Amino acid sequence: MRVIFVGPPGSGKGTQATLLCQRFGLAHISTGDVLRESVHLRTPGGLLAEPYLSTGRLVPDDVVNALVADLFRAPSRPESFVMDGYPRTLAQAVAFDEMLHEHGLDVTGVLLFQLGDELIVRRLSGRWICPNATCNATYHVYNRPPRVPGRCDLCGTALLQREDDKEETIRRRLEVYHENTAGLIDHYRAQKLVREVSADGTIEDVYARVVKVLDKLKPRR
Ligand code: AMP
Repeated sequence: MRVIFVGPPGSGKGTQATLLCQRFGLAHISTGDVLRESVHLRTPGGLLAEPYLSTGRLVPDDVVNALVADLFRAPSRPESFVMDGYPRTLAQAVAFDEMLHEHGLDVTGVLLFQLGDELIVRRLSGRWICPNATCNATYHVYNRPPRVPGRCDLCGTALLQREDDKEETIRRRLEVYHENTAGLIDHYRAQKLVREVSADGTIEDVYARVVKVLDKLKPRR
């Protein structure tokens, strides 16, 4: 099974991809994770990507396409996978189609996660983390508030908001998402690959929908 997850930031597609990959033994390919790791390691690609990540803009297509092509060139090339966050533009989708074709692979389906912008802003901008490396507890102003506002329950450290969880950054990421997704979705609709999934509800609710949709696609390999 080779599936592409498309959805706005904060729609939970990363969580769903993790669950699905654990359950069905698929490779979980998240370009966001790969890019964050290269920023953390300060590789040349990471240094190039950093200003885009911190401001919620897309890293240039050729950089991300090259990164994905490298993953598929490796001896451990994934045969069955969930793409989480790639392709994200029409140009990336075209490049990805070509690359898969060269490897004799095709896409089984594209799952489009749907969730309204205001719900996303509320979900993401509420996240705060404890920056103490030995603690790293996470909080949410609505769902899991700390006992003392702004302080970690476990170690008392002042909580921080990740740069890409700030409301301004989230709204920019949503704008970027809407601008780029239309062409991408049209591209895959033309191939009759798109299936829509509501991303509202609990993780289990959404997971059940995902599995149901995938069951109706081609048999799993
Ligand atoms: P994500 O964790 O998927 O939301 O990605 C975090 C950030 O990484 C995005 O806001 C972009 O700056 C960058 N990024 C991840 N995937 C891509 C992609 N396919 N194309 C361009 N930029 C990407």
